[in-house]
Amino acid sequence: MARGKGEEGSVNYGQGGYHPVDIGDLFNNERYVVQSKLGWGTYSTVWLAWDTQLNKYVALKISRSKDNFTETALNEIRTLKVVAQADPEDKECIIKLLDDFIHTGPNGNHVCLVLELLGDNLRTLLKHYSGKGIPLHMVKEICFHILRGLDFLHGKLSILHTDLKPENILLPSTIDPEKDPKNLGVPLIPSSNKGKSPIATSSSSGSNICKTGNQQMGLKHKGKLVAQDCGIAAKDKEEKLGVEARAVQTRTWSSKTSLSGAWEGNLAQKIREVGINSPSEKQSSMASLDLKCKIADMGNALHLPINLMGPIQTFRYKCPETLLGSPFSTPADIWSVGCIAFELATGHFLFNPRAENDQERVVNHLGLMIELLGAMPIGVARGGKVSRDLFDKKGNLEGYILKSGNTLINLLRDKFGFAKKDADDFRDFLVPLLHFVPKKRPTAMQALLHPWLDAGPRLLQPSSSAAQTQQSDEVIPVDKTTVESERI
Ligand code: ATP
Ligand code: MG
Repeated sequence: MARGKGEEGSVNYGQGGYHPVDIGDLFNNERYVVQSKLGWGTYSTVWLAWDTQLNKYVALKISRSKDNFTETALNEIRTLKVVAQADPEDKECIIKLLDDFIHTGPNGNHVCLVLELLGDNLRTLLKHYSGKGIPLHMVKEICFHILRGLDFLHGKLSILHTDLKPENILLPSTIDPEKDPKNLGVPLIPSSNKGKSPIATSSSSGSNICKTGNQQMGLKHKGKLVAQDCGIAAKDKEEKLGVEARAVQTRTWSSKTSLSGAWEGNLAQKIREVGINSPSEKQSSMASLDLKCKIADMGNALHLPINLMGPIQTFRYKCPETLLGSPFSTPADIWSVGCIAFELATGHFLFNPRAENDQERVVNHLGLMIELLGAMPIGVARGGKVSRDLFDKKGNLEGYILKSGNTLINLLRDKFGFAKKDADDFRDFLVPLLHFVPKKRPTAMQALLHPWLDAGPRLLQPSSSAAQTQQSDEVIPVDKTTVESERI
């Protein structure tokens, strides 16, 4: 039987890979009962689980067992412990770690993180808008919270995230309230463990690791039926129920949402903004959607002054200094925020370099940056370890024919149809975040003070002093990193 194998691919379920998980599996001395799959990434699969001690839902992130994935998971734990200590009141827009342990299975020892249960990631939110972008007032609110989290990480803790992208920023709840387990309050899958073999868990310090037992089939089967019927994480074909099974399930735990008056009043305008043609429950949930998102996936976080592991950033969100092999620091995250903000507002990647191989892709990426943002200062273009392979002595990008007229403002107005004022205001917010010179990018706190965000909420105050500037950041030369492979 296929276990936990979905989009992440069964090829990664061998030795050193993901841990095969079944619905109903128990973890950490039977404390956590797996309910359904929430997501997956390069390093891990993430599961909705019921905490039988505290009687609440949590997210169980199970890392792949190979050494480098283990290191990443341990780095995430270490980072989140620093965050938790510095943010006891949970005000800083960073995901919270609740527990951690090691689980031993057929593919090795897996570091497991128990995280507060959050909702959909921003990629899912983008998909909800059918690739047409999210209304600007929502983008502002989301950006506010991302920058709030970054201000805390950079300004107070001297931590770089290094992998900001929509998949790693989570809403507090699911877009569809009917699918949010937190609205349920009770476990979908019973925590009974009669007849189960001992479960292999230990603290993440690595001691006391024992072997995983087989899981009880009856429980797994039952769990799968119930969890899937509730519509939670139904993306894996193997996990989908047959029509027959669905037909016998009844939902008693949730009522349908209805259109609110305020929403109806704004409906025509919303439809224009969102590009959806008819009122629906899908839209009604957006009116009340909580956008206080949190930054997640801290596995690649770097602690200043220096504690580096791995290459940084996922390719579309890479800043010029990363592409060029130049020193980087907190401004690298700020660049990624610019890419994310554009993507949220337009539904399109800001930079989507396409090429046959890595070298071509870097050239293509730099070419797109120059087309959109103007000439790259020669000091930046020629300042990196790989610059000479890419730019001639005059600072011209080699092997790329620059297209003219593809400026940011043209894109916003002509391609994406923003009204002149919206386009101008958004451009004014974006351009500084995307400054080619890292030190000239605003800090997260400075970006928070930008007038474009004025229309957004002011529920939280920036933590760091207004005197803080990017110039004070420690700059990390790329050659001090232990780069294994380009993170894509
Ligand atoms: P990456 O490939 O970005 O390195 P990863 O393996 O480190 O990913 P995460 O990004 O932490 O894994 O999680 C993968 C996905 O699981 C997220 O995009 C999100 O959809 C879901 N997820 C993670 N943590 C939670 C949580 N606490 N609550 C709800 N969903 C979560
Ligand atoms: Mg991730």
